[in-house]
Amino acid sequence: MPTSTSDTGLRELLEEILRDPWKRVPSHLKPDLHAYLLARHSRFLLLVNLMGQMAFLVYGWADQLIIPDQTALSWMLRTGYVVFLATATYLIFVRWHNILFMDSSLPVSIIGAAAIWFWLLERSVDPHTAMYQYASLIFIVLANLGVQVSFVVALASSILISLVIAIGVVNVTNANPDEMMIFALVYFPVLFFSLFISWSNFVARRKEFAQEMLNRIAKRSLQNSNRALDELAHTDMLTGLDNRRQFEKMVHHELARVARTPQPVCLMLFDIDHFKHINDAEGHEVGDAALKAVADAARQQIRQHDVIARYGGDEFSVLLTNTALPDAMVVAERIRAAVEASHIDLPSGGTIHCTTSIGIVQMGPAALRLEELMSAADKALYVSKIKGRNQVSAHDSTSLSDLRCPLLSSVQHCNNQAVES
Ligand code: GH3
Ligand code: MG
Repeated sequence: MPTSTSDTGLRELLEEILRDPWKRVPSHLKPDLHAYLLARHSRFLLLVNLMGQMAFLVYGWADQLIIPDQTALSWMLRTGYVVFLATATYLIFVRWHNILFMDSSLPVSIIGAAAIWFWLLERSVDPHTAMYQYASLIFIVLANLGVQVSFVVALASSILISLVIAIGVVNVTNANPDEMMIFALVYFPVLFFSLFISWSNFVARRKEFAQEMLNRIAKRSLQNSNRALDELAHTDMLTGLDNRRQFEKMVHHELARVARTPQPVCLMLFDIDHFKHINDAEGHEVGDAALKAVADAARQQIRQHDVIARYGGDEFSVLLTNTALPDAMVVAERIRAAVEASHIDLPSGGTIHCTTSIGIVQMGPAALRLEELMSAADKALYVSKIKGRNQVSAHDSTSLSDLRCPLLSSVQHCNNQAVES
């Protein structure tokens, strides 16, 4: 089966996303994108958040050594902030399970962390504060490395973090132009480098998603093709009925089932009468139309779970599950009457009718082979033919072992009585 038009449109869009890093993911694909990123990257984002919080707490020791006059305040603020962040992390990652919040939680929390840290530096009178302020570079790096889903978040948080750091640096250096210039020279390359990594991560995640979606489409299309091939392998193309191969498979299946839980099952064979004549007189196309008409008429007379197949040429077979011979005879008679009532339109304008001869056998309690059943049904069909066609005959197979006799040349020689309809 060909891929659907919507799949084709989607594939083109996904290929464009793979090629062009600036191509926007349309809003109708966003839920899929977010679900994909949630499944693949939420664990990484959780770890990055927890590690960031740990790092922020551990820097309390650095404060203790470098700005000892702020030790108590540092530990208090850091612990309080980490407890607050851990609660927010629990809500975002466990309760809300929202990938956009997960993605932005680290950069947003870093804005607060930078503000706390620079406040401690400003309060400190220790001479090392001017050197210590360079450690703030870690904030911008961490913020941008953590972002995976939205580059806008990375950009916005970078601006805000840089703003907080800039205010802090102005205060710590007492707005000394030389010191501020040196800080800026060190800071900006790190800012751009970390933003570039954030952009690369963002593009890589989008590409992964597009590739995954393309793989899913390819898999779906392959499954459709396999289904279509499977359909072709067991369908008769002219009539749309099952073919002989599928029919035999179903009979084997039924034989195995009957062996486990005995139930009456009947097998029917029917063949169009004097079909050669239709072909010869009206041509093959009319012959084909007759085959279709007979198939349609017969199909309408059976239940959905019964199996009907074109067994070959102008011969059809039916497997009637959970049906005893008397009921199967009724169904066969219905099929016979329906075929007789159907008509085939001729290209010349007129119509023709055809009839069919039917043979039925009931599966006996003993385990049987398909060949034995077909042979029995064929014999009953042969009886219908020699009795004048357009009729139903049954082979009572309560002792189907009788059927294991060699193929009989004429029905008169068969031990089993043909039952007339
Ligand atoms: P009987 O009443 O004894 O069955 O006589 P009949 O003429 O129907 O003989 P038979 O069943 O042996 O004829 C089968 C014919 O079906 C022979 C073959 O040309 C024709 N046939 C088989 N397959 C097709 C098909 O796909 N299309 C057409 N148009 N004819 C087919
Ligand atoms: Mg025939």
